[in-house]
Amino acid sequence: MRFFGLLISLLVVLDCAAAQVDIENVRLWPAPKHTRVVFDVGAPVPHSLFVLEKPSRIVIDLRNARLRRAIPVAASEDSFLAGIRSASRNRGDLRVVLDLKQAARAKSFLLKPNAKYGHRLVIDLQVPVSAKQPKQPVRQITATKLKPKAKVKLRDLVIAIDAGHGGEDPGALGARGSKEKIVVMQIARQLEKLIRRERGLRAVMVRRGDYYVGLRERMRIARREKADLFVSIHADAFKDSRVRGSSVYVLSHNGASSEAAKWLADQENSADLIGGVSLDDKDDLLASVLLDLSQTATLSASTDAAGDILKQLKGLGKTHKRRVQRAGFMVLKSPDIPSILIETAFISNPAEERKLLSPRHQRSLAAAILKGVRAHLERTAPPDSLLAARKHVIARGDTLSKIANHYRVSMDALRTANALPHDKLFTGQILRIPPTHGS
Ligand SMILES: [Zn+2]
Repeated sequence: MRFFGLLISLLVVLDCAAAQVDIENVRLWPAPKHTRVVFDVGAPVPHSLFVLEKPSRIVIDLRNARLRRAIPVAASEDSFLAGIRSASRNRGDLRVVLDLKQAARAKSFLLKPNAKYGHRLVIDLQVPVSAKQPKQPVRQITATKLKPKAKVKLRDLVIAIDAGHGGEDPGALGARGSKEKIVVMQIARQLEKLIRRERGLRAVMVRRGDYYVGLRERMRIARREKADLFVSIHADAFKDSRVRGSSVYVLSHNGASSEAAKWLADQENSADLIGGVSLDDKDDLLASVLLDLSQTATLSASTDAAGDILKQLKGLGKTHKRRVQRAGFMVLKSPDIPSILIETAFISNPAEERKLLSPRHQRSLAAAILKGVRAHLERTAPPDSLLAARKHVIARGDTLSKIANHYRVSMDALRTANALPHDKLFTGQILRIPPTHGS
């Protein structure tokens, strides 16, 4: 097999030997856990890559290629790249050396042209597999640590906010050229901000900046953060610029099971797929025929949440489809985390593009999403969550207004929820705290 593979790459090299390839630009995308180096190339370029130690560096040899522009300087906060240099060799070949701050695993692959870029050679730098899980020193268990806790600590429910696309992948392009990856990030940040103010909820951003995260990696991040709900935020595009409105998706039944199996297999060999995903299609559609039971439970929770969010979006303006949609989006395939995907609007519609760019509309979208998320979580909150525990035992000095303030509910809501005949409270009395409805 290996011999055969070698033979093929050799043939590719021979085939391309004649034409010189221009490297139009080099772009750097530092992310917290990886760094992506992208070469904009005139054509698929034959190349080889090898890693050298002491000091750590990566050498990329590009066959019959020349640089058309100066190589950028690595950002000081880049966790992998210390610098990049280049030199021509063998009359016409180009050697690029990535000087590293730490040992890294490197992977290279070619991407086909998309709406924004032409052919690209991508180099991904990641932490080496062996260094990924440093051994924890065995901790001494002391007597004090074994004491039972006086109180069970109630947890926040975690919402993983996934801003679609990023970095190399701009997503859909607006009529005026705005990029989906940018506007969805702005909406995601608004949502994060709103959730931070909510008692009992916690937000986790799947990506924090303008870099690409593989679709399976997005699910893995949500799982690592023990997310209770995964919300992927996107903006649609269609060739007909009149099409408009928002839609909410959950995973379709087709494609659930095989992905569950695949996901488990991925867990086993913990292969990292950053960048290993084809970006040729906007959203990766995979189909399958079987149905997995655990996915079914997750799916019904997803559908429930999606319905709540769609209801809120309807209050905000026109929805594209009146019902929750189902599709085989890869990013929705966590077998154990209810996941939904929101197409906030059509960025290809000039009027909706303008709205998507407005901070005010972004806030309204985020608020509508939060309201839907909250409604769903309040209905389904597990007993160990802060959200489910909404009872207050009256202590000395408590007043109705103090309690209303504390839980951010109105005094009237408290009166109604507890059928209070008057506002006088007594120590030891238990009040039911009604749900807080968004702000
Ligand atoms: Zn998208």
